[in-house]
Amino acid sequence: MVDLNELPRRHYTDGPTPLEHLSRLSARLGGPQIWIKRDDQLGLTQGGNKTRKLEFLIAEALAQGADTLVTAGGVQSNHCRLTLAAARREELECHLVLEEDLGSDGKPVPAGTGGNPPEFTGNFLLFDLLGADSVEVHANGSDLMTRANELAAELKAQGKKPYVIPVGGSNVTGALGYVDCAQELLNQFAEVGLTVSTIVTPSGSTGMQAGLIAGLHGADSQIPVVGINVSRTREDQEPKIISLVDEVAAFLDLPPVPRDRSVGLGDYFGTGYALPTSEMVEAVRLFAQTEGILLDPVYTGKTAAGLIDLIRRGRFSADENVVFIHSGGVPGLYARGQAFA
Ligand SMILES: *Cc1c(COP(=O)(O)O)cnc(C)c1O
Repeated sequence: MVDLNELPRRHYTDGPTPLEHLSRLSARLGGPQIWIKRDDQLGLTQGGNKTRKLEFLIAEALAQGADTLVTAGGVQSNHCRLTLAAARREELECHLVLEEDLGSDGKPVPAGTGGNPPEFTGNFLLFDLLGADSVEVHANGSDLMTRANELAAELKAQGKKPYVIPVGGSNVTGALGYVDCAQELLNQFAEVGLTVSTIVTPSGSTGMQAGLIAGLHGADSQIPVVGINVSRTREDQEPKIISLVDEVAAFLDLPPVPRDRSVGLGDYFGTGYALPTSEMVEAVRLFAQTEGILLDPVYTGKTAAGLIDLIRRGRFSADENVVFIHSGGVPGLYARGQAFA
């Protein structure tokens, strides 16, 4: 396996994030023993999983001589917030290409009706506070990456040196942040003397899950990483996970990863990306009221709802150890507070 320490990397977090035992939540659910990996406490503005990806992505941008970042996401994108935060640390320009939310019926708001313009709250507020160099908002369903590449070409024509980061930072370079996290987790399991049966994680643009799967495989660990999809059915998501796992494994010079390691369950995202479900609301309240831990409504809330459903269906025994990755996203909670009213 390629040694990650040999690759260019910036550092935005001091030391490993905590691994905590949620004893009250575990008791409330009658087991299993639930542990939480606090990646919501990673560095940069309010943390979250994109911070790990950006350590490798920004290092690559700097190595290429970039002075400007261009990236894309939803109007409440955590990835855009953290890319912008990293840009401020590195004194780079940062341009954001955003997509409006779906309507509350789960369908794109028809063009010409004024769309579904973002409210000045949550991550969208932070884009302003962090001083994004430009923000454009497009209709839901627009081809954001085509526009991001076009914008990069325009910036280049003005003499800038742009570096384009894909949605969610999910390419091989970004996924390396979670290859590294897999090793960090294995070290923590060894320190605590913990035998972990399953890792449960959100699955969106797949960089986090693919990095974890490849990283565990590279360390000869067989621990399954169950993804809970935030926007796609199982049939649509698993090929995406598999293809990024294969790319990461090839880059790291690992033996092929068995395809059945790439699991993304499609039963918990409801009617669409970022649209609330009653199970998400229940899960966010349960984590808050048993452990004082805030989840977000788009990723970790739905993932926790998936975990709770798997528990109620008897998937785990009372004494086995299950690790839930808290990937961050809490600023989005305040933008979607209506779901809880
Ligand atoms: C982006 C994001 C995810 C999903 O990670 P992917 O690598 O895109 O699958 C999960 N949780 C939060 C809070 C995120 O911002």
